[in-house]
Amino acid sequence: MNASMPTSLTDGLDAIIEMDAPLAGHTWFGVGGNADMLVRPKTEAALKELVRRCHNENKTVRVLGSGANLLVLDEGVDGVVIKLDQPAFTQWTLRPNGESNKVLAPAGVDVLKLLNACVREGLDGLCQMAGIPASMGGATRMNAGGKFGCIGDAIHSVATMNHRGEVRVHPHSAIQFSYRHSGLPQDLILWTLLQLNPGDPVALRQKMLEIYQFKKDSQPLAEHSAGCLFRNPVTSDGTRTSAGRLIDLAGMKGFTHGSAFVSAEHANFVCAHKAGRANDVLELARIIQDRVLQSQGVNIEMEVAVWGRSFQPKEKK
Ligand SMILES: Cc1cc2nc3c(=O)[nH]c(=O)nc-3n(C[C@H](O)[C@H](O)[C@H](O)COP(=O)(O)OP(=O)(O)OC[C@H]3O[C@@H](n4cnc5c(N)ncnc54)[C@H](O)[C@@H]3O)c2cc1C
Repeated sequence: MNASMPTSLTDGLDAIIEMDAPLAGHTWFGVGGNADMLVRPKTEAALKELVRRCHNENKTVRVLGSGANLLVLDEGVDGVVIKLDQPAFTQWTLRPNGESNKVLAPAGVDVLKLLNACVREGLDGLCQMAGIPASMGGATRMNAGGKFGCIGDAIHSVATMNHRGEVRVHPHSAIQFSYRHSGLPQDLILWTLLQLNPGDPVALRQKMLEIYQFKKDSQPLAEHSAGCLFRNPVTSDGTRTSAGRLIDLAGMKGFTHGSAFVSAEHANFVCAHKAGRANDVLELARIIQDRVLQSQGVNIEMEVAVWGRSFQPKEKK
């Protein structure tokens, strides 16, 4: 840890500040090292001030959502990790300003809690998110979803904050949502405005439960993972093929490397044993990539974000 992190970064800031903060408990993998500094702003003004100070002091800023698509390496992370889990960022507003069927969701909102609330209110459009753990910021950033649709399908507009603390609103038409990609600038996502449709709460609940059951039957939801580790690659005919199937064909279902293993249930789920090493997960990812390339002739890229002091993730396409 860097105990001498300048206090000028956080002096007088309305925020919860933790130095040398363990991040394992903030991620679904449940492994990995510490953040030099974890800051949880209590207001948008404090967040704005924090990102401006970080920029002025040349500190790296990383935003942590619910940690369901994230591998923090054992070496931990430098700079400042921001978590938007204080009430200013976790409380949604149904029908803001009387706008029918809209929901304003700050970035720290738990998407699954919001889905349940929308179903109770008879608001349709989020059921595709059943069984997908996410904060609204994390889900919007990577257009989370799957077979039943993506979060982008329900998005009216998104507000981002840049390193100067300036807020910009992006209407749906200006956002290029595609497979696990939002095309939004690499800024912090502040809030997402959803455009939903009226629906019958009983029918919606049934739909939500069916989608959840489908996930439960096909994915090891109880293991420590980040969901699918790899993106489904595009094949020569331009269509996407299942990375899980390629890993399965490479004979890697159930393969173990140190404290990490490939799920026997779903080959694209790489899981970590409790108190295991994050680096085992990353090493296993590289072994899988090599074996799939050798046996299937296909390059597969990681979908999960990897954070580390020395780790430079590849740009996603
Ligand atoms: C059991 C399980 C099942 C899953 N199933 C699916 C599935 O079916 N479909 C699917 O798409 N995903 C799935 N996932 C992955 C995960 O749920 C999604 O990727 C989700 O969107 C991650 O959101 P998060 O808040 O946890 O993001 P995090 O993991 O916290 O962060 C992921 C990335 O988003 C960035 N980010 C987070 N918040 C913000 C913000 N406010 N502003 C800017 N950047 C931000 C982070 O910096 C990081 O780069 C699954 C994961 C698990 C553990």
